[in-house]
Amino acid sequence: MSISHIEHIGIAVKNLDDTIKYYEQILGLKCYNIEEVKDQKVKTAFFKVGQTKIELLESTDPEGPIGKFLEKKGEGIHHIAFAVKGIEDQLQQSEGKGVQLIDKTPRKGAEGLDIAFLHPKSTFGVLTEFCEDKNQ
Ligand code: ZN
Repeated sequence: MSISHIEHIGIAVKNLDDTIKYYEQILGLKCYNIEEVKDQKVKTAFFKVGQTKIELLESTDPEGPIGKFLEKKGEGIHHIAFAVKGIEDQLQQSEGKGVQLIDKTPRKGAEGLDIAFLHPKSTFGVLTEFCEDKNQ
């Protein structure tokens, strides 16, 4: 496995604007990107903390993955994303070791990254994302 760092932490929120205010005015971080990922039915806002990002996720559809998460669990940490090299190989290796994959092949996430999720049933309760920046 070749993980270099935590790329981001995904946090599900009810209201992006209210939450951005907290991160900016209380924590003093700067939101540098807001992006809608139609595919995932979310609007995202990004903050940098060193090499790691905070990704706020607001649902655009109650039937989408974040909509359902908020309904079931409320606001809070939704997933952790590791930066990997060779995402296809990492997925194959994980599956080979018995991990259940949500995405068998990577798809496009926010910021043009290739992303794929591992099922929390196989990762001790933490929805785990692999991501790779192939433009780097
Ligand atoms: Zn993510």
